[in-house]
Amino acid sequence: MIVLLASPTHALPEHSPWPGGIGVLRIPGNVRPEVIVNQQAALLVRGDNEWIAVFGIPLDHDIESPLAALVTLPGHDAEETLIDIRANNYREQRLNVDRKYVEPDPQQLERIFAERKIIDTALTNVDQIELTDVSLQAPVTGKRSSSFGTRRFFNDQPRSPHKGMDIAASSGTPIVAPLAGTVTATGDYFFNGNTVIIDHGQGFVSLYCHLSEIDSEAGQLVAAGAPIGKVGATGRVTGAHLHFATYLNGIAVDPALLLLPTE
Ligand code: ZN
Repeated sequence: MIVLLASPTHALPEHSPWPGGIGVLRIPGNVRPEVIVNQQAALLVRGDNEWIAVFGIPLDHDIESPLAALVTLPGHDAEETLIDIRANNYREQRLNVDRKYVEPDPQQLERIFAERKIIDTALTNVDQIELTDVSLQAPVTGKRSSSFGTRRFFNDQPRSPHKGMDIAASSGTPIVAPLAGTVTATGDYFFNGNTVIIDHGQGFVSLYCHLSEIDSEAGQLVAAGAPIGKVGATGRVTGAHLHFATYLNGIAVDPALLLLPTE
């Protein structure tokens, strides 16, 4: 039997069944199951006599159809659980930026495609390590925008939705790792500006963009609270802020669902 329940502690997110949200599925028993959602293995955390699967729900998931989770226990047939997905009405956001960010020239397009590959590889990496906690400290103190998922227009042209949270902070403010992990990519990318990507394991990845300075390097192990860079205004921005994004099984999920409440 499989039960959908809100998590009892802060160590795990609440079950948040909407596009851009996080699914939390509890599987009773001590045997480690395999949980597949959208052809990807879900992150698994050990609970008391249960396993807890945590997975991202795509922003473009059609709310008319439930999300299927396939749970397999060793020696048993796969059992399908259907999760109802409800609407979350994301707002619209209109921004004006330098023309090159809306109409890049062929050379810039080539750069964008090459960088996209590096970024996607880092965002979809899966390291099979045990995780006991998937909650995050704030990477920087500052006002958190609620703009995750907003439908965006740059210079009046529609672009992909906002897949992160913007945290207001002045240029030079230190950014810290919100949870232990391995830095898997850093670089100065066309849209994202100076960027750091941290892999926390089991497909849980976080991304930091528009930095003024990168203070970490690929391959480096970082503890929670370790400095990784500084807030800036590089790339496609209208001012200094941290773009902070979180990914589960390659799917962008609202970081607000993973951040510990502020004291
Ligand atoms: Zn942003």
